Amino acid sequence: STGYNIETVLNVLGIGNINNGTSTGINCFSNGEPIESFSPVDGQLIARVKATSKTDYETVMNTATTAFKKWRMIPAPQRGEVVRQFGDKLREKKEALGKLVSYEMGKSYQEGLGEVQEMIDICDFAVGLSRQLHGLTMHSERPGHRMYEQYHPLGVVGIISAFNFPVAVWSWNTALAWVCGDVCVWKPSEKTPLCGIACQNIIAEVIKENGLPEGISCLINGNYKVGEFMTKDSRIPLVSATGSTRMGKIVAQEVAARLGRSLLELGGNNAIIITPDADLKMTVLGAVFGAVGTAGQRCTSTRRLIIHESVYNKVKQAIVDAYKQLKVGNPLDETNHVGPLIDAKAVDVYKKALEEVVKEGGNLIVEGEILSGEGYKSGCYVKPAIAEAEPYFNIVQHETFAPILYLLKYSGDVENAIDIQNNVAQGLSSAIMTNNLREAERFLSHAGSDCGIANVNIGTSGAEIGGAFGGEKDTGGGRESGSDAWKIYMRRQTNTINYTTELPLAQGIKFDL
Ligand code: NAD
Repeated sequence: STGYNIETVLNVLGIGNINNGTSTGINCFSNGEPIESFSPVDGQLIARVKATSKTDYETVMNTATTAFKKWRMIPAPQRGEVVRQFGDKLREKKEALGKLVSYEMGKSYQEGLGEVQEMIDICDFAVGLSRQLHGLTMHSERPGHRMYEQYHPLGVVGIISAFNFPVAVWSWNTALAWVCGDVCVWKPSEKTPLCGIACQNIIAEVIKENGLPEGISCLINGNYKVGEFMTKDSRIPLVSATGSTRMGKIVAQEVAARLGRSLLELGGNNAIIITPDADLKMTVLGAVFGAVGTAGQRCTSTRRLIIHESVYNKVKQAIVDAYKQLKVGNPLDETNHVGPLIDAKAVDVYKKALEEVVKEGGNLIVEGEILSGEGYKSGCYVKPAIAEAEPYFNIVQHETFAPILYLLKYSGDVENAIDIQNNVAQGLSSAIMTNNLREAERFLSHAGSDCGIANVNIGTSGAEIGGAFGGEKDTGGGRESGSDAWKIYMRRQTNTINYTTELPLAQGIKFDL
């Protein structure tokens, strides 16, 4: 009745007959307790997937470490060729995977397709990168010596991902890690285990067709306890973890305790500064999409608008009017703008945040509501809300993963708006809407936004794969995807070669025998 034809989708993705608890995912070792995956779209149980036990995990790690020894010796451009084939397979399965993402996670089908497109794009990027994993050469201070640096594969990369980007975040990590010569073990969110199996099936097919060891890509399923297998495991030199700041603080400590590397992509509290010179039409579109897209469940969702007092009423009215047009419902129906939240717990967090903002003295100018009745049977659909608030409110300082937008007022110079913007613990995405060059440059300067992403005349939500993605402070400091983000997946080695018959020491030290 929801129009997803989910059985066909699961068949195309090679996930047949999993209700008895045995997943068909190749190299998906799972003998632990079953995890139930419910769709937030209609509340139906889609499937049960067995979690990975500690014994299963050991099998996975053996498979992965064996595969690494072979994979690292394959020339990087040939590894790139495998990733190219993976991108092609994703093109073939784009519709089915996009639908599964939409049905299991609840984002719109268009956004589901967009997520798969992002996977394809990062594969293309990684293919080119496979010929460009270069270090620098330096001049040695010693005669007849040459010095350079090279990047070597790191080993087994552990990936822990969040529910809201159930497939793309994995590919941001794996496509790069694979061309770098690493093998990957992935623990997807326990809220979206089927997306994990679908991706694993697709890459497993490519690996098999190329006669390569299956451990190049491994999947483990389960909750935080299964994630902990990896954070505590010194056989894993890098753990890339995407999720809440709460999770990141635990993971960072676990991995640091064994002197491993962690790449953290955590929560945001993203703001758009709206100056007197802002283009109103662009501002409204950017702010509304940023706040309600994916039902406010993006790490880059717009949570705060910091509006100059001279245009405050005008902007407020335009945004409230735009909210009146919003339709909430089945994410497969393209006329709907907002789909469901992930589960009942998320609805509860939304409800509590609305109570909290009122308690702190905020003014709800667009009231929230938990929707019920026909089309809303899962109980996960909520109405996007807007509250006028103060920057220092406790609730405004926190990331609530739901479509709640706070309007904050500033007066005087843009510096005041930047102060409000930076004065939160998180530092992921930020934006300014202005046609004033001085304001824009000030915002981008070293006295400006303290976020990993700073945009001018674009909203905060979403990013292109070509740039390095990530944020500062409580967002964790990690960078993934484009630019030189690949370097974290490799180990750097400095090499000095002496092509003389003498052995001069560095710094002119004399040591005569
Ligand atoms: P979450 O923190 O509840 O879970 C994320 C993942 O971490 C899950 O796979 C979970 O099982 C695992 N996990 C939790 N505790 C763990 C522990 N102690 N050890 C090992 N693994 C553990 O987050 P969520 O609700 O799935 O996702 C929403 C959050 O993710 C938001 O805060 C959002 O901003 C953030 N996010 C950030 C980015 C980014 O790139 N910065 C991208 C997507 C989502």
